Amino acid sequence: MRSFEGKVAVVTGGASGVGRSLCEQLLAEGARVVVADIDAAKIGEVTEAIAPLGGEVTGIQVDVTKEASVDALADQVFARFGHVNLLFNNAGVGLGEAKKTIWSLPVNDWRWGIDVNVMGVVHGIKAFVPRMLESGEEGVVINTSSTNGGLRSLPNTPIYAATKASVTSISEVLHQQLLREGKPVSAAVLFPGPHTVNTGIMASRLVRPADYAGDEPEEPVAYRTMEDLLKTTGLKMKLTEPEEVATFALAGIRSGKFWLLPESEEGDAMIRLRTEGLLARDNPKSAW
Ligand code: NAD
Repeated sequence: MRSFEGKVAVVTGGASGVGRSLCEQLLAEGARVVVADIDAAKIGEVTEAIAPLGGEVTGIQVDVTKEASVDALADQVFARFGHVNLLFNNAGVGLGEAKKTIWSLPVNDWRWGIDVNVMGVVHGIKAFVPRMLESGEEGVVINTSSTNGGLRSLPNTPIYAATKASVTSISEVLHQQLLREGKPVSAAVLFPGPHTVNTGIMASRLVRPADYAGDEPEEPVAYRTMEDLLKTTGLKMKLTEPEEVATFALAGIRSGKFWLLPESEEGDAMIRLRTEGLLARDNPKSAW
């Protein structure tokens, strides 16, 4: 897809972080953008703030964990625009699970993580792809994965890593299946980075649907952004800004790339270590 001018783009998780930056940059390039998010108040704020950038912006509330809600989003978008060119299955949550063991994490957190990060992508594909294929229009489905889980799994975030491994797998299969269709619709998978991205993902619990609340005492949301976390804890860590991720993703989509994976020596070394260990049938070493 050479240009985004006049293209119809739907961005789930569009009211914050990477999703918001994608919406801003698509609008600035003249696209017609749908900001789709569970957080109605943020949709209102964001659509108002970014409308002057250009293009045309619409906000629609959606809960990607619910198939009916994503179907209703697709119905509204196709009724209004007739087709969709770009579907960003980007909504995702962090579980606040740092350093917890698989055997101690509540099942409700597993359900929530899987339902947003995995089923959200599945619901998006099911609701949009058949009509994208039917329309005959040029289209790309971009799923947001993560290098954590999506390419190799860190030991301290079990649920998140498991969900992102699944997003990479779904995206690779979608790519193959779309190639076989021989229509102008393709797939891509985005790995935001190369460093931790400075977004609101630490505060995901604030938008957890009520049906995932368990009996466990609720842990307070300590940090709203990664920057807050670093300032408060004094931790030294490089951050990538969401605008950089959006610029990188749009450039990759323009040139027809499937792997939207930023260059990173450190990241490549970890992928190489895993792949070489696997090919040598070596047991993984401790990564804690
Ligand atoms: P963010 O919290 O700033 O944005 C996520 C958005 O998703 C929020 O606006 C939130 O309201 C929305 N959302 C959450 N649950 C939803 C639901 N049920 N239905 C609809 N919308 C829902 O976080 P972000 O970092 O911008 O995350 C965007 C994507 O990037 C996610 O898939 C995340 O896993 C991925 N990612 C983030 C990082 C990072 O370092 N921040 C790294 C790799 C991958």
